[in-house]
Amino acid sequence: MACVGAKDWLGRAMGLGGAVSFARFAPDAADAASLARLAPLRESAIHALGLTPFDEQLAAVAALLAGHAVELDTGEGKTLVGALAAAAQALGGRRVHVLSVNDYLAQRDAEWMGPLFERLGVSVAWVGQRTARDERRAAYRAQVVYAPVSEVGYDVLRDRFAQDAADRVAPEFDVAIVDEADAVMIDEAMSPLVLAGASDDEGADLAAATALADHLEPGTHYEVDADHATVSLTDAGLDALEARLGGVNLYAAEHAPLLTRINLALHARVLVVRDVDYIVDDGVVRLVDTGRGRVAHLQRWPDGLHAAVEAAEGVSATEPGVVLDQLTVQDLLRQYRTLSGMSGTMVAVAADLAEFYELRTGRIEPHRPRIRVDEPDRVFATSDERRPALIAEVRARHERGQPVLVGTQSVAESEELGDALRAQGLDVQVLNAKNDAHEAEVIARAGEFGAVTISTQLSGRGTDIRLGGADEHDHERVAVAGGLAVLASGRFPSNRLDAQLRGRAGRQGDPGASLAFVSLDDDLVQAHAPAHLLAKIARRGATLTPRERRRIVDSCQRIAEGVRLDRHRSTWAYHRATAHQREAVLRHREEMLTSTDAALDVVRERRPAEVEALETQAGRDAVAATARGIVLHFLDERWQDHLGMLAEVRDGIHLQALAGRNPADEFHRIALREFEGVVDGAFADAADVVSRLGPDDVGRDLADLGLRRPSATWTYMMSDNPLGSPGDRLARGLGRQMRQRVYRIE
Ligand code: ADP
Ligand code: MG
Repeated sequence: MACVGAKDWLGRAMGLGGAVSFARFAPDAADAASLARLAPLRESAIHALGLTPFDEQLAAVAALLAGHAVELDTGEGKTLVGALAAAAQALGGRRVHVLSVNDYLAQRDAEWMGPLFERLGVSVAWVGQRTARDERRAAYRAQVVYAPVSEVGYDVLRDRFAQDAADRVAPEFDVAIVDEADAVMIDEAMSPLVLAGASDDEGADLAAATALADHLEPGTHYEVDADHATVSLTDAGLDALEARLGGVNLYAAEHAPLLTRINLALHARVLVVRDVDYIVDDGVVRLVDTGRGRVAHLQRWPDGLHAAVEAAEGVSATEPGVVLDQLTVQDLLRQYRTLSGMSGTMVAVAADLAEFYELRTGRIEPHRPRIRVDEPDRVFATSDERRPALIAEVRARHERGQPVLVGTQSVAESEELGDALRAQGLDVQVLNAKNDAHEAEVIARAGEFGAVTISTQLSGRGTDIRLGGADEHDHERVAVAGGLAVLASGRFPSNRLDAQLRGRAGRQGDPGASLAFVSLDDDLVQAHAPAHLLAKIARRGATLTPRERRRIVDSCQRIAEGVRLDRHRSTWAYHRATAHQREAVLRHREEMLTSTDAALDVVRERRPAEVEALETQAGRDAVAATARGIVLHFLDERWQDHLGMLAEVRDGIHLQALAGRNPADEFHRIALREFEGVVDGAFADAADVVSRLGPDDVGRDLADLGLRRPSATWTYMMSDNPLGSPGDRLARGLGRQMRQRVYRIE
């Protein structure tokens, strides 16, 4: 796709001359009616909010209305852009979801933009984690709903289990405007949102396995592979374990579960790192979202690993549960009739957005030219050399009164750096996964004169950093000191994440600076550099020129980005088969749920004699209602079994690659074959149960008939971050072992 003169049509349409430029892809069809709606909207914003939308903002609104992805720098006012676009759509009779990354932003934006909607007579509501079911149902009736994308997904999953159509909260998939869209649509796209139910699994005895693993010595008893993704027992390790267990053969079938547990314990101990991959907070293991540097609330690893980490930390185990259904963010978003998104870093993922969402991406230049100074990276041979240089830079800028924001790669690093700076007498705010409650407030103050703030990546994304404090009382003095300086303690696995951090400085034409301190022993380089580069670093590390070093880092980052895209593609290929099947099951379910006779017909067709006899005895309507419950029960149960089976197949599918077959093709073949029996099997099971009912059974609870549904349900996001840590990678590898545990639904 080439640029097709968007500058011209948008410029003309908006009377902007050359202010708007679409850098790569261009919207090529203007919706004239939408554009005409914008003039009165501008007036409403002035009166209701005291903000006069800039032409650039209106151009962004037009692009959103046309269903595009828009890049607009941090601080350019995307909240207003999203609200204006939402209002325009609502006035045109559409239902709109403005999707954010967390509860805080959903609430903030709905409340901040509330007066605008009120003035226009558009109803608005917001939904967060703690919104009760009835309130959700009411919120989704509003014309514009602000919500975290995960909450909408959980509502879809919960609705899907309704036994009665009236119980559903029923979000509508008409228009979606996604904020921080690259994070949501690309980075989190493949993280499954999971609905789980209680199970009566006893919980594997991981404590004993953990104790056994504690005796193993690295190098002798186990080996860790080069990219720190897997750990394996050596023969000596196995011998030592067998001896300790009194001479058993760990490879005997009866000991397979124990060997699995020992492996899990070893993985938890060796590969998953406290304060990098997770933190322990109040006796609870909480995952750190490596993409955002904050606690990933309501996320967990696949069960066995999660439990093994809990055992290693000696905290009490949380309940694993059984997966009832799951949905990826990408599947969810693709359900909207009109999808659009905005962020400060979209153009870099334009090709991905086209591939996965059929979206076009464009960039709108900032209202005031950017004057931030982005200095070239400083690349050190080792992190030992980097640390003092970074500290010296923070001090030097701080002494001039320039506010400094340091972005670090991990919680541990942020604390180390904070301690080091405090030891030198600096007053430092450290913002990381351990204290994200006040993150918005801390971030908002990061632009005060002389402030030093250390933050893990992207904490507070969505919060504006104004020079001279939130009310800008001291703007001049800070501007003279050079504005906000953003220092990165390394490069992230994608250029986009670097740009997000950098974008905190120099908002709306403010002065500012950015600079990254990188080292050749960083994970990014060590895990991604091809062998010849690693050899070059080992041979000439200290004598490489600054330019050579920067080129090494750049190419490693490009490799990391390629790896992420490959993973997205292959994960999507796997999920697509399941997504189609899920739709098919849901169509049947919908029919059973909403039609009075569909379920009765299904069982009568299969067992005419018995069912008709029962109808005569118990009455047709009563039998129909009971049949409905039973058919729904088996549809759900068969689907859960199918999902569990597919997860196992997928985790083991790399073995097919060893056998010379294309794993994705093989997966599809198996998925199709296994799906054959799902719906028919559910119908047959249901007919079987109904045929054995006596008249007294009709109208009884399903549980009394021996059909148990999950007693409690809860939701979480499976940590499957494409930019994830070794912990994430190994979790995927281990999935199969853990899912072999058999659950029974309570
Ligand atoms: P973004 O999401 O693009 O980073 P925000 O929506 O958080 O930006 O807005 C950044 C700041 O710009 C806010 O303080 C907001 O009040 C201000 N702002 C937005 N639009 C305008 C406008 N048209 N005129 C003046 N200030 C604006
Ligand atoms: Mg924003």
